[in-house]
Amino acid sequence: MCGIVGYIGTKEAYPILIKGLHRLEYRGYDSAGIALISDNQELNVYKTKGKVADLERFAESKDISGCIGIAHTRWATHGEPCSANAHPHYSSSEKLALIHNGIIENHEELRELLKSRGYVFNSQTDTEVIAHLVNWEMRTASNLLEAVQKTVEQLTGAYGMVVLDREHPEHLVAARSGSPLVIGLGIGENFLASDQLALLSVTRRFIYLEEGDIAEITRRTVDIYDANGQKVEREIHES
Ligand code: GLU
Repeated sequence: MCGIVGYIGTKEAYPILIKGLHRLEYRGYDSAGIALISDNQELNVYKTKGKVADLERFAESKDISGCIGIAHTRWATHGEPCSANAHPHYSSSEKLALIHNGIIENHEELRELLKSRGYVFNSQTDTEVIAHLVNWEMRTASNLLEAVQKTVEQLTGAYGMVVLDREHPEHLVAARSGSPLVIGLGIGENFLASDQLALLSVTRRFIYLEEGDIAEITRRTVDIYDANGQKVEREIHES
């Protein structure tokens, strides 16, 4: 399980996300990627095999604007280390992007189900099934939070994940089961990471998600729901 960083606020997300990934490099990884919703509402996804510095070289001539984004360092469990298998994964004409730490044990059945629904897979990872499942659930859910709630009910395995929706750049949705996630609280901005170490240069206030928690995070708010869908309060820790 490797590194997750997320940001939503008014600052440029790219330098914050890249710095967070660098702080998680000690864990070891084989590829890195980033997804940003740009100033003109495009979802830009850049990913590459290799180091975070390789990702920076890859992205430097591209549009890295945007005040919301997610970034990942991958330790391959399903599928070789390569840019296609690196996270973020996305679904349906790059509308949703998703990063994931952990292993989805029932990914083969879900892959067959999603293929029968017409989804085309671009990677060999277990993670890509989650992106397409969220996309499928978005068809009937009233919002991204509900789509993620319906998705995780279908997953067997371990995950810490964060989802970005180009059509709703006002929030990120994160879910945790078997793989840690921490929310970093700012003023007019909020952060996410798999390890608070990634965020120590930007905040000292943290909420640790508990098993089964799903969080909807905006610039100014953090709403957390437990595995039963009940809204819950989690303690804020000062580090
Ligand atoms: N199982 C996922 C993959 O192989 C996530 C790996 C990780 O935790 O970095 O892409």
